[in-house]
Amino acid sequence: MNQSGWRPERPQAGEGGAVTYTGNRALMLEEPLIFEIGDERTTGVDLAERSAVPSRLGSLVRSRPIGLPGLSEPETIRHYTRLSRQNYAIDLGLFPLGSCTMKHNPRLNEKLARLPGFADIHPLQPVDTVQGALGVINELAVWLIKLTGMHGVAMSPKAGAHGELCGMLCIKAALEARGEGHRKVVLVPESAHGTNPATAAFAGFTVENIPANAEGRVDTAALEARLGPDVAAVMITNPNTCGLFERDMKRISDAVHAAGGYVYCDGANFNAIVGKVRPGDLGIDAMHINLHKTFSTPHGGGGPGSGPVVLSEALSPFGPLPYTARTDDGHVHLVEEGNAEAFSREHFDGAVTSFGRMTAFHGQMGMFTRALTYILSHGADGLRQVAEDAVLNANYVLRSLEDVLDAPFAGSGPCMHEALFSDDGLPEGFSTLDIAKGLIDEGYHPMTVYFPLVVHGAMLVEPTETESKAALDQFIGALRSVAERARAGDAGLKTAPHFAPRRRLDETQAARKPVLVWKEAPLAEAAE
Ligand SMILES: *Cc1c(COP(=O)(O)O)cnc(C)c1O
Repeated sequence: MNQSGWRPERPQAGEGGAVTYTGNRALMLEEPLIFEIGDERTTGVDLAERSAVPSRLGSLVRSRPIGLPGLSEPETIRHYTRLSRQNYAIDLGLFPLGSCTMKHNPRLNEKLARLPGFADIHPLQPVDTVQGALGVINELAVWLIKLTGMHGVAMSPKAGAHGELCGMLCIKAALEARGEGHRKVVLVPESAHGTNPATAAFAGFTVENIPANAEGRVDTAALEARLGPDVAAVMITNPNTCGLFERDMKRISDAVHAAGGYVYCDGANFNAIVGKVRPGDLGIDAMHINLHKTFSTPHGGGGPGSGPVVLSEALSPFGPLPYTARTDDGHVHLVEEGNAEAFSREHFDGAVTSFGRMTAFHGQMGMFTRALTYILSHGADGLRQVAEDAVLNANYVLRSLEDVLDAPFAGSGPCMHEALFSDDGLPEGFSTLDIAKGLIDEGYHPMTVYFPLVVHGAMLVEPTETESKAALDQFIGALRSVAERARAGDAGLKTAPHFAPRRRLDETQAARKPVLVWKEAPLAEAAE
């Protein structure tokens, strides 16, 4: 292997141990960038000698080699396999990222998503040739409506944030249809995920914050006091990002509706209440569902998201095209721009009021298949059990660690599916970051840190329902040990991680001055 230009930051073999020749530590292999090991003069395939055609694009002639690294097939496979071993993954261990719902992805879902009838079709195929796939989309839509007690659903949004945008565009269209497009203010609680205010602003609204009360829930009185003729909507996460159920949701919805606004619910945490609570019963007008969270489709480097939005009766007419509809003859129609009017004339009141389109085609087919498989394989009782076990596991983590880590809302009663801690009470000089880095040495991906913003030094732990008690106990033991080291003032924790391929990075520098392009050209050097 050509290793010119390979200058690994030779890691120590262990605390006080020797430097290794290779930079590897036992079977933990160092891996340089592909540009550092590849060579323009080598290639994995034998191409026929090309004739002397100048390398040009129109009138532009290439002035220097393109500089692509060439590697043989085994070199290429090793490069990417070595890199892949440096990833932490849900298939390796517990992934405590709060708000992200990193749960096991059942292999049954994968098997069904790979069936050729789902995996090998094309969105431009004639509708009659893809009735099975459209049937899956339609069946999942029916389930999502049933589970949420809503009226309609837009399946095409491709992530939670995309679903938020879809929901807010429905609200905007509904307001404009009523001649109330002047309502521009969207109220968002302080604890909201950053995507909520970003979405509202992107959709052309002005964002105003609503404070939280001492319990970590929305300050209902402050919210009600702010309602008025300029308010378009509120965006509320329920369960909220402090891991608490917003008990006053129905009262809030009633107040917002009475004041002429709409209620958007961020449904990213639906996994805590699926099968237990129907958002439609709480007066919600629009809510996205992250299939990649609640319904276990892979995410976090493992797959694309999918964020269908369930809609109330008031908002459904404004939902995006295309949508699927099954008629009594069993045929699944794909209602798009070309046929929407005719379809509406035949089946509805004839008016097409859709705000438009979110995506080129129909959404994330592979995720639909996985999510429907998950729903059908769990059944109604199984889904309820998912919510109960997710909540039970989070409370187990909360109560097992509240003696060593500050738990700001532990006094507000049981948490939902995630346990919130803070760095309050750690000795001077120790913070959430040290706890997170210490967990890396223990072999865990850190929990979500510094979110939600309403809690200083927040640590949000979401174990999900797919972890066994043994796995939870080991994680709790690891986090307890790291917390105790911080409390004892262990200076070693300030420089953790010690066992990772890279030590503590300058994250401020990385954020302010990211190096996004590989600059060095060892080949040019070698040629000179
Ligand atoms: C994950 C999440 C989102 C955004 O969802 P994406 O699918 O990542 O776009 C929004 N709100 C909350 C509370 C979330 O946890």
